[in-house]
Amino acid sequence: MTDSIQNQAKKIQERLVEWRRHFHQHPEIGLEVPETAGFIQQELTKLGLEVRAGVGGHGVVATITGDKPGKCIAIRSDMDALPIREDTGLSFASQTEGRMHACGHDAHMAMALGAASLLSRNKGEIAGSVKFLFQPAEEGPGGAKPMIEDGALENPKVDAVIGLHTGSIWKDAEPGDVYVSRGPMMACLDRVDIKIKGKGGHGAMPHETVDAISIASQVLSNLQTIVSRETSPSDPAVITIGKMSGGVAFNVIAEEVVLEGTVRAMNQELREFLDERIEAIVKGITTASRGSYEYKYTYGYPPLVNDASFTEEFEKVAKEIVGPEKVKPIPVPTMGGEDMAYFLQAAPGTFFFLAGSNREKGQVYPHHHSKFDIDEDMLYLGPALFSAMAVRWLIDHA
Ligand code: MN
Repeated sequence: MTDSIQNQAKKIQERLVEWRRHFHQHPEIGLEVPETAGFIQQELTKLGLEVRAGVGGHGVVATITGDKPGKCIAIRSDMDALPIREDTGLSFASQTEGRMHACGHDAHMAMALGAASLLSRNKGEIAGSVKFLFQPAEEGPGGAKPMIEDGALENPKVDAVIGLHTGSIWKDAEPGDVYVSRGPMMACLDRVDIKIKGKGGHGAMPHETVDAISIASQVLSNLQTIVSRETSPSDPAVITIGKMSGGVAFNVIAEEVVLEGTVRAMNQELREFLDERIEAIVKGITTASRGSYEYKYTYGYPPLVNDASFTEEFEKVAKEIVGPEKVKPIPVPTMGGEDMAYFLQAAPGTFFFLAGSNREKGQVYPHHHSKFDIDEDMLYLGPALFSAMAVRWLIDHA
């Protein structure tokens, strides 16, 4: 069965390349992906799926109902590109200035459409149903949550979910390597906004002022002791202040400084702890220095946690498709975030990395780089892995 799925996937390789290049040429950003969603809706309809468009915005949901009864497994793809000016020189480069599929979501969409194509031709093998979730705004502000709130995981109710990310994952990864994790895989993606408020004045008379820059610099360096002194070294966390702004002139004491940062952690308890400790440090230092503050912590994408037994089942299927030596545990969890995490909170499943950059073809640029590219030769592996897992999981859990 998996063998024939794999061969069927190889046979649609040309179509996969066409789809990928179409998406690559027509990138759209964030929550507004009308043309991408329209194209997907059109292709899924051609393949005979029941399609529901406009789910939680521009989300697209489509279902294949198998010939036998059973559960429902979902296959998820993101749809959005990035506000990057493409510099690949590819013949099918972005046709929109300042927008680019630089994170491989063009390939994800082609792969998910490929799975829809394979599975719609194999309804006799499907015990239950397969649902496709195409979501906007993975790169922010997040398209998964509004889709879930709009019923994407109901009718039929989704019992398990699978998704992938391709591209240049780890330095020694070869195209077609499958990286899995049976638990926490990616971090939360939280945001912190801090405003330090002092009292401005003459640069030569600091005693009559409250220097917001002086306070902010103490806050900044003390924030860096949270991860080094207060959290366990074996429990990964990051606090990055990426933007700091304040002051008006070299000889004027600043009234206000704004700090903006990102916070990453692999579990809910830790992110709540970081939130609490960041504010405690901001409060302690500002009040001791006669200043005041405003503080806002925004909980973004949750940590991405895979289901252990689902992932184990997926590993077996993946070994049959790519070979046992090409299925590997992730070396370390990544501190990047992914809003696939919302789907995985709602249903057990797995998110895996399918390495897709080929150094020999000069694909050495990281995700979100203006020269990022993927190896199209491995595109068929996405639909092969998705379809084989969907068929197998539904039979084993019928
Ligand atoms: Mn991405």
